[in-house]
Amino acid sequence: MHELGIVFYIIRDVKQVAEENHVQHVSAVVMDIGEVSTVVPHLLSDCWRWAADKEDLLKGCELKVNLIPAVTHCDGCGREYETVSYGKTCPHCQSENTWLLRGNEVEIKQIEVT
Ligand SMILES: [Zn+2]
Repeated sequence: MHELGIVFYIIRDVKQVAEENHVQHVSAVVMDIGEVSTVVPHLLSDCWRWAADKEDLLKGCELKVNLIPAVTHCDGCGREYETVSYGKTCPHCQSENTWLLRGNEVEIKQIEVT
């Protein structure tokens, strides 16, 4: 269960931030999840609910997910395109000299406190 491992990382980071800021309860955590990251948002939410409710700091805390669309940059023609539709081959010039610009993130964006 890959998502559960990620949830434990999130909880560890949120706890650390809460401790540093003397926060007693966190009401929501906002995540950026890239479209082509390996994380499945609804599985992440399920694991989150299960694990977060075991922590006093995070009881009832909501996990909000911003899905970040994946974009690939082409070095062949310098343009950008949707990764999910075209994969590694640029639809403009057919070059495979391409790299993922964004869409692979799994990051804590914001922590909301009560
Ligand atoms: Zn191109």
